Amino acid sequence: MKVYDHIIVGAGAAGLMATALLSQKGATVLLLEQNKSVGRKILISGGGKCNFTNTDATPSNYKSSNQHFSKSSLARYSPWDFIDLVLKHDIPYYEKKLGQLFCEKSAKDIVEMLVKECRSSGKATIKTGIKVNGIDKEEQFLVSTTAGDFYAHNVVIATGGLSIPSLGANDFGYKIAKKFGHRLIETRPALVPFTLDERTLPEFAELSGVSLEAKISCNNTVFDENILFTHKGLSGPGILQISLHWHPGDEVTINLLPQLNLSEEFQRLKKRNGNITVESFLRKHLPDRLVKKWLDINLQDPSIYIANLTNVELESLAKSLNAWTFIPKGTEGYRKAEVTAGGVSCDQVSSKTMESQIVSGLYFIGEVLDVTGWLGGFNFQWAWASAHAVAQNYSK
Ligand SMILES: Cc1cc2nc3c(=O)[nH]c(=O)nc-3n(C[C@H](O)[C@H](O)[C@H](O)COP(=O)(O)OP(=O)(O)OC[C@H]3O[C@@H](n4cnc5c(N)ncnc54)[C@H](O)[C@@H]3O)c2cc1C
Repeated sequence: MKVYDHIIVGAGAAGLMATALLSQKGATVLLLEQNKSVGRKILISGGGKCNFTNTDATPSNYKSSNQHFSKSSLARYSPWDFIDLVLKHDIPYYEKKLGQLFCEKSAKDIVEMLVKECRSSGKATIKTGIKVNGIDKEEQFLVSTTAGDFYAHNVVIATGGLSIPSLGANDFGYKIAKKFGHRLIETRPALVPFTLDERTLPEFAELSGVSLEAKISCNNTVFDENILFTHKGLSGPGILQISLHWHPGDEVTINLLPQLNLSEEFQRLKKRNGNITVESFLRKHLPDRLVKKWLDINLQDPSIYIANLTNVELESLAKSLNAWTFIPKGTEGYRKAEVTAGGVSCDQVSSKTMESQIVSGLYFIGEVLDVTGWLGGFNFQWAWASAHAVAQNYSK
C-alpha cells in the first residue's frame, strides 16, 4: 500500500502551489482534482488575463472573523516572491492599476507555470477527473474517491469556496472541516453584483450599461471606483468591492458625483446665475440617461431653472446624488460571485502552518478558509501565501 506524504484535494491556485512547493521539498504528493483539467478558475480570472497578485497587498486588504490570522503567511510570502516565479518563467505581465498585476497574454501562462513547478521534482502526481468523496483518519489518512482509496500522512484541503458552481464549486471542504470538529463561519457570496428593488429605483433596468466613477460606502468602508448599472441592479469594481463589506439589510451609500458638493454648487448657481436648468447643469457632469432618470424621479419639471427651485428641493436633489442611500435587494449570488466570504474558522487553524489544531496532519489553504481578499489580485496572493506556509514548515 503506497502512503503519500501529502494528498492535496483540489487543483486550484492554492492546491497547485502547495503541490509544487511541497514536492520541491522532497515530499511525495498526490494532487486530486475533480475537474478534467487543473486551475479552471485561474483560467477565467481577470477576464482571462489573471490578476495574479497585487503589489500593495497587506493584511488590511483581507476580511476575516480573525483579522490577525493572515498576517504571518502574507508576511512570509509577498507579492514579490510570486513575481520572481513569474519572471523565472518569462511570463510577460503588466500593472493595470493600483498595484494589480495581470498576464500580458493569457491566464494559461500561470496555470502552465504552476504545472511545470509541480512536475519539476518528479515527486508529485496529478490526477484529474477524480472526486474525493470522504476523508477518514486512523494511523494515516484514508482518502476515498471516485477512483478508489488513497493513503497519506497529511491531507491538505484546497477545495475553494462556493462561487461559480458551474466550475464544480461545492461545500466538500466545509463538510470535512465540520466532520473533524472545526467551526465554520457562515458563508456568503462576495465580490458580487447587487440586485435592486423597483421601490429603490423605479425601472432601473432602463439604466443598464450606464457606468460612472463614484464613491461607494457601507459599514464605514469607502471605495472610489467605477460602478455599472445592469438590468438586475448594480455591478462594476466599486460595487464588487463594497459587497465584501455588506450583509443583507445593510444600507449602501453612493456618491454619484463625488467631485462636486452639489448642495454648495446649487446655492452658488442660484445666487450667481439661476438661469440654467437643473437638467443642463447635471448633463455637464453625469451620463445623460442617469440625469433623465434622476430628474424623472426627483423633479416634476426637469427643465425648471435652478433659480426657481426652493432650497428644500435643491437640497433634496443634491442629497439624492451626493448620498444616494438604499438597501440592496440582495446579490446575484454564488453564480456570479468572485469569492465566498466566511468558511473554515481560522481560530482552530495554525496561522504559521495552516495545520488544524484539532487533527494533526490536516491542513486548510486558500479560499476554503475564512479569509477573503478585496478585488484586485488579493485572493490569489492569499492562495499562494497560505500554500507556501504549509510547505515552509515541512521537512522530510
Ligand atoms: C470569475 C472570477 C474571476 C476571478 N478573478 C480573480 C483575479 O483576477 N484575481 C484574484 O486574486 N482572484 C480572482 N478570483 C478569485 C480566485 O479565483 C479565487 O479566490 C481562487 O481561485 C481560490 O483558489 P483556491 O485554490 O482556494 O480554490 P479554487 O481555485 O476554487 O480551487 C478549488 C479546486 O478544488 C476542486 N475540488 C473541490 N471539491 C473537490 C473534491 N471533492 N474532489 C476533488 N476536487 C475538488 C475544484 O474543482 C477546484 O478546482 C476570481 C474568481 C472568479 C470566480
